[in-house]
Amino acid sequence: MKKTTPVVISRRSPIYRDSAFVFENIEQSKQAFDAEHRYPQSGEQLFYTRYGNPNVMETEQEIARLEGSDWALLTASGMAAIDVALALFHERENTGTWLFFEEIYGGTKDYTNEVLQARRGIQCEYFKTPPGEEKFDLMDLKYALDHLKPKLLYFEPVSNPLLIVANGNEIIRLAKERGIKVVVDNTFATPALWKPLEQGADLVIHSVTKYLAGHGNITAGVVCGNSDELHKAALTYRKFVGHILSPDDAYRLGTQLKTFELRVTRQCENALKLAKLLEAHEQVQNVRYPGLATHATHQEAVNIFGKRGFGAMVTFELKGGQPAVETFIANVAPHVKYVTTLGDPQSILIHVPTVFSAERFPFPGMIRFSVGFEAYHLLEEAVTRALTAL
Ligand SMILES: *Cc1c(COP(=O)(O)O)cnc(C)c1O
Repeated sequence: MKKTTPVVISRRSPIYRDSAFVFENIEQSKQAFDAEHRYPQSGEQLFYTRYGNPNVMETEQEIARLEGSDWALLTASGMAAIDVALALFHERENTGTWLFFEEIYGGTKDYTNEVLQARRGIQCEYFKTPPGEEKFDLMDLKYALDHLKPKLLYFEPVSNPLLIVANGNEIIRLAKERGIKVVVDNTFATPALWKPLEQGADLVIHSVTKYLAGHGNITAGVVCGNSDELHKAALTYRKFVGHILSPDDAYRLGTQLKTFELRVTRQCENALKLAKLLEAHEQVQNVRYPGLATHATHQEAVNIFGKRGFGAMVTFELKGGQPAVETFIANVAPHVKYVTTLGDPQSILIHVPTVFSAERFPFPGMIRFSVGFEAYHLLEEAVTRALTAL
């Protein structure tokens, strides 16, 4: 019997799970270390997975293509991506003031307080919407930029959970005119709807955990940019803090990215249909969806998204307050489950004042829906059943 292994030619790269790779002689190792020292990952050979791994690099190229960036760096979570991106602008006593939009992901807000301010001594300021309004005032922003003179501006194009859309193109222009660095968390918009680097942003980050991975089965993040200087600094920082994504997750992410545009297109279509269905129902007090003409920042959404879609998050309030939400949750299951994430294949929901804060979001009847890419009739059936039960 023949004892050789049969030849297979795979359409995908194999998974390189090795934590380190072989050198054949001293000369190879010397060249690899010299090259790594000049510019991380620039050598002819990779030698340690925390420094660089073939599966991670391959999937990074795929994300860079989607985001239209020169480079992308995968990290072990969205928070790790934020840490890498912001660390590049730490300049000891010259770091200056950083301005964050108040309406950002809760974990990021806590990171600015607990890590940037409390541990690293960075002066963080927050830009708010005018009291009682769900819209950013760019005259106020101009004033803040001119008076606080921040060195860095950080925002998200779509806020969570109120879905306030920022006119990102104009905001980036205002910052760049003043020489301010701009970092955008583009998780909610995704590159399918908006590409901040094209508008002049310095760095874009994503919680890949959400739409890019899109199946609720990978925790990952990414930093994207065009500057070589930032690339070199980001690779170096990621290497030393050890934030790189695992080869297995990078491999699975690469596979799941093949359907990214299809998924998001369907999710946006489902979300618009759901928003209209909810808006027409008598038990629904109001619907916040940037694709509806009634939304406070519909015009901002049209400005930055064009006709590409309005995202897949829908926030609405039921007239009956928390008891109505209890009934809704019980009846919309099992198709729609209560899960505290977003960007899953199947629609999921959360009760806003419980998951966020009842103090900041005093709306007992408020539900945030993350709309999936399931066949719309499945979603419609579940939601109609839940609304009828009210
Ligand atoms: C989830 C999320 C994050 C954090 O990402 P993780 O992958 O959970 O670390 C950051 N920003 C936004 C907008 C998010 O939704």
